[in-house]
Amino acid sequence: MAARLPAAYRARVLAFWQELGISPRTVKARRLPVYVEAQRLQPLGLGTDGRDKLLVPAAAAAWVAMRMAAGEDGVDLLLVSAFRSIDYQASLIRGKLAKGRVIEEILTVNAPPGCSEHHTGRAVDIGEAGCPPLEEVFDQTTAFHWLTANAARYGFTMTYPKGNPEGYLYEPWHWCWNKLGSGEQGGALATEAAVPTQSTATSEKSFA
Ligand SMILES: [Zn+2]
Repeated sequence: MAARLPAAYRARVLAFWQELGISPRTVKARRLPVYVEAQRLQPLGLGTDGRDKLLVPAAAAAWVAMRMAAGEDGVDLLLVSAFRSIDYQASLIRGKLAKGRVIEEILTVNAPPGCSEHHTGRAVDIGEAGCPPLEEVFDQTTAFHWLTANAARYGFTMTYPKGNPEGYLYEPWHWCWNKLGSGEQGGALATEAAVPTQSTATSEKSFA
């Protein structure tokens, strides 16, 4: 088990959970790990949303090599998403709450701030032209079939397959380079969180 997270980081993560109504019991029940945000990041160029994308240098090199190899096989891997900060993760969830979505449902798609592999600067969301981004139908694309056959050679694995233990929906587009062992179980933070309990009793069963 890795060392405890820095105290200031733990406090930031817990403050986000409290603000967004994320139940520590849910985090604990799903055994979600908490990851430290990557610090040294390398630009990869623009993603499909026209914004700069970043990964840690070793993951960036692996991505570039993998994308080039795919290209030589006539497959164009599009970069939809890479590094995300915990602040950005919180803003994604805040936006969905503002639209009236409930937190338990949001958390089947979005990790709680602190719990996303994208914080590590090692995870990418991959797309293919003509396929709607971040949709399960990505597993019907030539890009997905190429990744299934070849990504492991570049250190990438699909970390949220069907029935993943963290309770996320199937994410065939999400691939992580040299997945880290969990930094620290979110449940360890959850036990010290003084978060109001109004949203804890509802739908943990739906994650089973
Ligand atoms: Zn992802």
